[in-house]
Amino acid sequence: MQLDGDTTQQDMSVGALAAVLHYYADAGIDCALADNPIDRFEESSRKKPEPQKQSSTAVAPRPALKAAGTSQASAPQKPSNPVAERTTIPDETALATAREAAGTAGTLKALQDALLSFEGCNLRFGARQTVFADGKPQADIMFIGEAPGGDEDRQGIPFVGRAGQMLDKMLAAIRLDRSQVYITNMIPWRPPGNRTPTPLEIELCRPFIERHIQLVNPKVLVLLGNVSTKALLGINRGILSFRGTWSEYNLNSDTIIPSMPTLHPAYLLRNPAQKKQSWADFLSIRKRLDELGLPSKTGT
Ligand code: URA
Repeated sequence: MQLDGDTTQQDMSVGALAAVLHYYADAGIDCALADNPIDRFEESSRKKPEPQKQSSTAVAPRPALKAAGTSQASAPQKPSNPVAERTTIPDETALATAREAAGTAGTLKALQDALLSFEGCNLRFGARQTVFADGKPQADIMFIGEAPGGDEDRQGIPFVGRAGQMLDKMLAAIRLDRSQVYITNMIPWRPPGNRTPTPLEIELCRPFIERHIQLVNPKVLVLLGNVSTKALLGINRGILSFRGTWSEYNLNSDTIIPSMPTLHPAYLLRNPAQKKQSWADFLSIRKRLDELGLPSKTGT
């Protein structure tokens, strides 16, 4: 590994190397995508800018689908980079493929298979695995978070890290546990360094989560955090001003699912003072479940 112009890892003491790795981890760099460093500045300076197109859809105009990292004929050869070779610049074709794959999935298993074979979203190439869902597929209450973190990426199950433990406690506080609810994410692949998914990534994953909700067909939806709230309820306000307000998710032309946007458990870990707001939201969820005669852990 080349650390800078003059220093290699062989020159460094174990302590110094550990300090560099801690520094990278603090900066959000917590996984290696390739053996060799990639100079993105040099890479983009070799690419000719594409002309800007106008689009009326939420998806930003993009160049035609092609393998990113495939260099132009005159460009100098770069060492092979397996991630870049598989990475694609998504376009309307990728979105159409996502819609087709999700729309034709008749069961949760078929939807999971469709996601496993979908290659239109680059996040999948940096993730260890596709994180689909946890809990009871026939549950009346469905929770939708943002995207897997490191623990979820390793274990393949949503909400198993610190935020997941927090979610378990929040469920227990309203007499629920994972065996009675269904849990998934807006995005099934961990974004590098746990960054927020981009609008394009959200659009590419939208057909899958919309189909996911249709197949589970819950009586109540709980949207955890900004990303799923904004994407699924079409809200343009921040979660802090919108949380706690029962809203309507249109499942199809004649079915509406009552939906509660609330604070993300990871946000609560960083901002414990907000737990009071979250508690109010969860009490409201419990009240709605009771009104609908839906279960609780004790069966009451
Ligand atoms: N945060 C999420 O939004 N989802 C997970 O699965 C884990 C953390």
